[in-house]
Amino acid sequence: MKKDHQLIPEPSSKFQKVSCQECQEVQVVYSHATMPVICNFCGNALTKSTGSKTIVFGQIVGSAE
Ligand SMILES: [Zn+2]
Repeated sequence: MKKDHQLIPEPSSKFQKVSCQECQEVQVVYSHATMPVICNFCGNALTKSTGSKTIVFGQIVGSAE
């Protein structure tokens, strides 16, 4: 399953699949996102941005790269 023209993250940042603690909905979260990520399904906060690194509240279930 190879994807063409996929955005290549910098080495210090990455995309992760995060499972919502409330509803288990899985979303792709960027590790250095500047905005907090909210679950599309239930509205629960999945991440919190601290300015330098994103804190993930949900369970990281894998890489999305
Ligand atoms: Zn949710």
